[in-house]
Amino acid sequence: MTVTSAVVAGEILMTCQVLIVGGGSAGLAAAVGASRSGAATTLVEREEFLGGMATGAMVGTVCGLHLRSEQHCRAVSEGFPRAFGDRLARLSGTEPMVWKEGLRFLPYLPASFADLCSALVEEEGINLLCGASIAGCAVDGDTIRSVSLADSAATRLSADTIVDCTGNAVVTALSGGRVIAPERRQASAIVFTMSGIKVMDPHVLRMMILRDVKRAARNGNGDAACERLSMVPGSCRDDCASFKLGLPIDCDDLDRVGRERVDRVVGFLTSGVAAFDQATLTSIAPLVGVRSGNRPWGRDRLTTEQVLGAMKCDDGVARGAWPVEFWDDRPGPQMTYFAADDYYEIPAGALRSSDFVNLYFAGKSFAASDDAIASARVIGTCLATGYAAGRMAACASIGRPQEEAVRGLRSELATVEEAG
Ligand SMILES: Cc1cc2nc3c(=O)[nH]c(=O)nc-3n(C[C@H](O)[C@H](O)[C@H](O)COP(=O)(O)OP(=O)(O)OC[C@H]3O[C@@H](n4cnc5c(N)ncnc54)[C@H](O)[C@@H]3O)c2cc1C
Repeated sequence: MTVTSAVVAGEILMTCQVLIVGGGSAGLAAAVGASRSGAATTLVEREEFLGGMATGAMVGTVCGLHLRSEQHCRAVSEGFPRAFGDRLARLSGTEPMVWKEGLRFLPYLPASFADLCSALVEEEGINLLCGASIAGCAVDGDTIRSVSLADSAATRLSADTIVDCTGNAVVTALSGGRVIAPERRQASAIVFTMSGIKVMDPHVLRMMILRDVKRAARNGNGDAACERLSMVPGSCRDDCASFKLGLPIDCDDLDRVGRERVDRVVGFLTSGVAAFDQATLTSIAPLVGVRSGNRPWGRDRLTTEQVLGAMKCDDGVARGAWPVEFWDDRPGPQMTYFAADDYYEIPAGALRSSDFVNLYFAGKSFAASDDAIASARVIGTCLATGYAAGRMAACASIGRPQEEAVRGLRSELATVEEAG
């Protein structure tokens, strides 16, 4: 596989078959899918590291890899997400845990997630450009011909097909395609880690924090920011734990407000909650965690009814198993469940642009309703949609019919039980 580079009329022109924009969970999976399908693949990421929210926002648990079940721990599908999860668990020294209502998740170390992304880029022969932000697109009718970089307008990347994994429909918007803003935006959050905590039972610790936050509020010396504090499940290790702090939905400087609020909350915990009297702040996530963004128009659209009805379809290329989890200004998420031990399928057309013939998308931004995305945005499902979009984009770039990619993806998804 080769990615070529040439100087044409003063411009550097890099050419590949599949270009992936955004190196979060979805983009990494898309790059693996495209490269494994035999396409020369380039992955462009704005930050200096891979993983997006999973590493930069220190999310800490992979949801959506398993069916919801009180009885057993069963992968939602075979294929790339499962293999990624197994490898991540080994690297992090963790295993899947069960939470309320039979929900299962995999705790992980953000550094291990980043290492795994880098290892896969190396192993799969993916051409990686980190610290490079896409800022423009050249369009010819219904085809995106090339993209340009923010700090180097003279560098253009041209590809047969493009997969937009920016989490915000950036490529679609820059190309003049149709994007929809969420009707109901979700609250962002910032994650931080503390060490030197004296109580390591997560249930006891949670109760202590809740009790002291309520007591302070009753005594008139509380801080409303503390009411939106929750623990990252599975993060209690040695004397450390990670916490998620909800931020206001209407805020135009999330980074500044997030950091200010972490300072206030850490101050409250160390002075007001006994388990924290010797504790210190060890890290704040480099990126604020942004849950919702713009979404592109697709040839099909995943609806709320399809998610809640656990819909199956002939062109389903990825599976989702997480409930609709919506974070607004309240302290915890609003959960809407579909049947346990079941999953829904995401149709190929929801990952394919209706405006441009050579554009695909995946992750937390594809053609879906607000509630459907509130389920499909979890990392396990982002890995699944990313891998599927990468395979489909590669298939198109080497001139094979879309049905071939869909058939191949569907057979990869079949669980061992179904295959037997
Ligand atoms: C606070 C919070 C807690 C969460 N908790 C969980 C959880 O416990 N479990 C779970 O499974 N999921 C959780 N999620 C959801 C999950 O983390 C994200 O939805 C998922 O990681 C999104 O992956 P993605 O690849 O679609 O997008 P991202 O991870 O956002 O990746 C998009 C990438 O595109 C890059 N990019 C953007 N624009 C450009 C550009 N112009 N040029 C180049 N690159 C660009 C970005 O830098 C980024 O790396 C949480 C999310 C948040 C915010």
